Amino acid sequence: MKLLVTGAAGYVGSVCAAVLLEHGHDVTVIDNLSTGNREAIPSGARFVEGDVKDCVDSVLSEGNFDAVLHFAARSLVGESVEMPEEYWHGNVATTLALLDSMVAHNVSNLVFSSTAATYGEPASVPITEDFPTAPTNPYGATKLSIDYAITSYAHAHGIGATSLRYFNVAGAYGSIGENREIETHLIPLILQVALGHREKIFIFGDDWPTADGTAVRDYIHIRDLADAHLLALESNEPGTHRIYNLGSDDGYSVKQVIEACRTVTGHPIPAEVAPRRAGDPAVLIASSEKIMRELHWNPTRTDLNTIVRDAWEFTRQLGERAHSAPRG
Ligand code: UDP
Repeated sequence: MKLLVTGAAGYVGSVCAAVLLEHGHDVTVIDNLSTGNREAIPSGARFVEGDVKDCVDSVLSEGNFDAVLHFAARSLVGESVEMPEEYWHGNVATTLALLDSMVAHNVSNLVFSSTAATYGEPASVPITEDFPTAPTNPYGATKLSIDYAITSYAHAHGIGATSLRYFNVAGAYGSIGENREIETHLIPLILQVALGHREKIFIFGDDWPTADGTAVRDYIHIRDLADAHLLALESNEPGTHRIYNLGSDDGYSVKQVIEACRTVTGHPIPAEVAPRRAGDPAVLIASSEKIMRELHWNPTRTDLNTIVRDAWEFTRQLGERAHSAPRG
């Protein structure tokens, strides 16, 4: 298929673009490199540098695009509270421009990168797709608003769309992994300690109502996540907007994740308890039963040690590259 992939300089978008290319698809990327890395864009893709809202119409007007996979977005919860305008314009307005352009150029297949943050603090786990959506921050609110927009565009204009609500994506695929200028995620931060780039990891609260008192999350391997995008792309039905959760139906506490990182890296990884982080729920675990049943999604890298091992391999390579880069 001839595909437009937005945001393929970012972590999730670049792995998905690489896997799409491996499956023989023709990939054009739009990315403004605001948070992504140019070197993460797979070499087999054509790269258009710029904002999606500025570039999408000229790209889609070339004709013959079969589908769009839309990853380009701002995605930091804390930043979304401080600068909501960046999120409403950057996420919602951008996606409306994309949808309008898809309609104008008869592109009717869309896979959208959504998030567990649309659910907010759940009353129970595992979270199924029919749980109430009640985002607790602007980031989740913008992603949920986009889902509403996609539903109505799908019905009115015959677009076949799937929103994939990710839980905690982690791990790496080949030479692509988590490499952000501002890192806030647990596994890459712990691995920076193992690499010697940080002194210790802070555990945000050990008084949560969980077995060991630390918060529990559902970690999903980036490569399994990419498979779900392929399945969604291949099965979208005109006029239908589907929503699927992507997780592993299982959760690990912050302490368990630190322990797995100690096992994989052999580093003692000093940890210190710090206050809870604002807006963090105690437990987030997805039910992915719906996508397994309907699309036969079959994640194979669900073991936490596998996820951490792949992330560690990537982090070490990154450390070596930084070390050997010319200075000055
Ligand atoms: N966390 C932590 N220390 C850190 C970063 C994260 O204790 O330095 C915790 C965080 O409070 C949450 C879990 O690790 O309970 C996963 O956080 P992350 O930012 O990776 O993903 P989120 O669940 O917020 O999307």
